[in-house]
Amino acid sequence: MLSKVFSFIVPLPCSRVRGKASRLPSIKKSGFGKHLLYGLGNLALTPIKLLRGGSHLLGVSHFCSISGLDSSLIIELVPCLHDNYAYLLHDMDTGTVGVVDPSEALPIIDALSRRNQNLTYILSTHHHHDHTGGNVELKARYGAKVIGCGKDKDKIPGIDISLCDGDTWMFAGHQVVVMETPGHTEGHISFYFPGFGAIFTGDTLLSLSCGKIFEGNSDQMLASLQRIMSLPDDTAIYCGHENTLSNLKFALSIEPQNKELAEYGSQVTHLRRKNLPTIPTTVKKEKDCNPFLRATSTEIRRSLRIPDAVSEAEALVMIRRAKESF
Ligand SMILES: [Zn+2]
Ligand SMILES: [Zn+2]
Repeated sequence: MLSKVFSFIVPLPCSRVRGKASRLPSIKKSGFGKHLLYGLGNLALTPIKLLRGGSHLLGVSHFCSISGLDSSLIIELVPCLHDNYAYLLHDMDTGTVGVVDPSEALPIIDALSRRNQNLTYILSTHHHHDHTGGNVELKARYGAKVIGCGKDKDKIPGIDISLCDGDTWMFAGHQVVVMETPGHTEGHISFYFPGFGAIFTGDTLLSLSCGKIFEGNSDQMLASLQRIMSLPDDTAIYCGHENTLSNLKFALSIEPQNKELAEYGSQVTHLRRKNLPTIPTTVKKEKDCNPFLRATSTEIRRSLRIPDAVSEAEALVMIRRAKESF
């Protein structure tokens, strides 16, 4: 199995990979509008058509996000720890299951046991314990292969497959492009599924915020965020934490005139009131609303007294400082 996986690793620059992926037959790109959230509860992974109209089931702990009806990939949100999300990737054609950032093993084992499923891959965006806490136990139980950034291979528990920026890897026929997105940690990667129009950003980009800069610097973080923002506007962003509502309060305080932010804020408030996830977000939404992507906004600069001459990377640090004392 390992050699089969490695045989799919083709180092290509992202632009080439994206161009290639867009020509893949029978895999539709889709945006947030087409991503549907359904509560699964104890249901088996029902064929997509049967799930239509099932939104009354949303008040449960598991959710699925479905791209186009042509895609055989289903993403299931699994809440972990205090506010983390792990994501189960289900390929409906082959029954292959992967998980992104299992903070802890038990919720993942529960979700898999309900459907008597196995786990083949564990994808780690970065080494922090709230993203890798379940790696070793899940690997031991299922024999799953752990995939992560080569730069942090000494820090990611159980790592088997080390990938670098621009590598492509196949998950059950779905192309996955590895994008190094350092800043929060040196060896942080994001997993981009161009055929599905989705990216897993770990703690680099969060909805209405970004990760704290622990190991990198603000230039790296800015470049990483800009790189994610260079993806198509309708790309769905699956980040590591459900903290959109608290991020919203700070964002509104420094850019109260932003109409898109106010609109997104109402959606976020409504969803969280019902205990529903705000994830996935989209590239477009974050461009319009996330203060850490809007360091050039006149209103934000005026609110935080950031002079025009201050660079975007420096402004990023000032926005972070303001958020921390908010
Ligand atoms: Zn982290
Ligand atoms: Zn985290």
